[in-house]
Amino acid sequence: MAESLCYRFAKIDRATYGIIPGVTDKKWYTNSYHVCPTEQISAFDKIDFEADFQPYSSGGCISYIEIPNLENNLEAVDQLVQYMYNNIQYCELNTRADFCCECGFHGEVLYDKENARWYCPQCGCVDQKKVIPTRRTCGYVGSFQWNEGKTEEITERVIHVD
Ligand SMILES: [Zn+2]
Repeated sequence: MAESLCYRFAKIDRATYGIIPGVTDKKWYTNSYHVCPTEQISAFDKIDFEADFQPYSSGGCISYIEIPNLENNLEAVDQLVQYMYNNIQYCELNTRADFCCECGFHGEVLYDKENARWYCPQCGCVDQKKVIPTRRTCGYVGSFQWNEGKTEEITERVIHVD
């Protein structure tokens, strides 16, 4: 499913069938064969589960592992990459490489769902020209090009590494 369809189909299904808990209660559907982005699962279990589906995804396949800032734990990065290399065809590490042009903050900017806007956790800036979320959507890195549903999906992803 293309990234924008995750939102479009969820909207259409909600309008057609109403809000069904666990089905149409979000603004997005899980993309492709992925484990639901909100499911608590370890990186290694996620890789094991998703690897079985990649040979059947002839339109392309990429799995991802959401990680915290591991700049000071390169051993963990090495373990993850080695596990990917040995167990799955195509997989990436997603980190939150956002920044704030107002105060120079680098890290994870936050999303205010109620007001549909990003803000800086350090200085509180809400100027969408200065608070820049930079996330791997699924196979490519982007900023601000997401629709409402995909934005919410990205902000609801759980971390897969303790
Ligand atoms: Zn800031």
